[in-house]
Amino acid sequence: MGKRVYNFSAGPSMLPVDVMKEAADKMLDYEGAGMSVMEMSHRSGPFEKIIRDAEANLRDLLEIPEDYDVLFVQGGATLIFAMIPLNLMTNSAKADYLVTGQWAEKAYQEATKFGDARIAASSKEQKFSYIPKIPASEFRSDADYVHITWNNTIYGSKFPFVPDVGGLTLVTDMSSSILSEKVDVSKFGCIYAGAQKNIGPAGLSIIIIKKDLVGHAREGIPTYLDFDTHAKNGSLYNTPPAWSIYIAGEVFKHLKKLGGIEQIEKINKDKAAKLYGYIDSSSLYTAPVAVEDRSLMNVVFVTGSEDLDKQFVSEAKTEGLVQLNGHRSIGGMRASIYNAMPVEGVEKLIDFMKGFEERNK
Ligand code: PMP
Repeated sequence: MGKRVYNFSAGPSMLPVDVMKEAADKMLDYEGAGMSVMEMSHRSGPFEKIIRDAEANLRDLLEIPEDYDVLFVQGGATLIFAMIPLNLMTNSAKADYLVTGQWAEKAYQEATKFGDARIAASSKEQKFSYIPKIPASEFRSDADYVHITWNNTIYGSKFPFVPDVGGLTLVTDMSSSILSEKVDVSKFGCIYAGAQKNIGPAGLSIIIIKKDLVGHAREGIPTYLDFDTHAKNGSLYNTPPAWSIYIAGEVFKHLKKLGGIEQIEKINKDKAAKLYGYIDSSSLYTAPVAVEDRSLMNVVFVTGSEDLDKQFVSEAKTEGLVQLNGHRSIGGMRASIYNAMPVEGVEKLIDFMKGFEERNK
């Protein structure tokens, strides 16, 4: 095996090594089937078991109530930006969005194509360095839903608590934080996420949706974009991203073995505290996000000099610490420390940061 690096990419990102090793072992013959999961009919017995077990384990991990559907779909979170208004903006055709980063803005923009989407609050004027906290009275009382982006992958912020939306349906994009900390699913009408950070390979997205919100899509939309298509068919209306679902299922088993979400959250908080703690104590690095809104998954920091930031990223790479550059739109550095980033990776990064600070005083 070649040498593995600590990959701080925002996504696709690291996956648990044990899961990949096991998948490699079973690559050519999955549990006596004589074929790979990649070659297997999605209507076959073994695949039926894979997808149903994946769903059951996800339900266990997130304690998803019975009155929610779990849908496995393709198209990334980006396609869900459109599915949300097409399925849910169907009574008053109004929806309120909290714009806390570029992905939140894209979700909002998509919704404007289908109805009266409005920005209820935005932190854009402060470079998305905090999460606006607004009272429920700021939302339109007849809005079909309120949309938030739980964790802002590019800016490194997250909601510190579930906002009070006064009984409206709350929809959240959890692409970059799902399974990283405990959430009370019952507070949301819909939670969705692309897989390629905490779940598994790209090509799969997951939608967790209250059953009574399914089946009200607007007339005339493409069959695939109607939540009901997937809910009625156990996510097997057409050929699903079978390999991604298989690996996702193995990741869910792995997370359960580690002790479930409570344990994962503890590890994630410990990793993030180490890194932010060092940044706060250093005289070279600063983290631009308001302390109470800091992401556990994407740690954004800068040196204050663009040249030094670039040097940091390239020197880190030679040490096997890769993909530490910030998003192309904002520069600086971003260490994405999703579930599969071991604590040793964070410790090695901090050691490197200390050395770099010494050398560049
Ligand atoms: N939402 C968030 C919070 C993201 O981080 C991303 C991708 N990084 C997206 C949406 C877009 O996801 P996809 O590429 O799966 O469409």
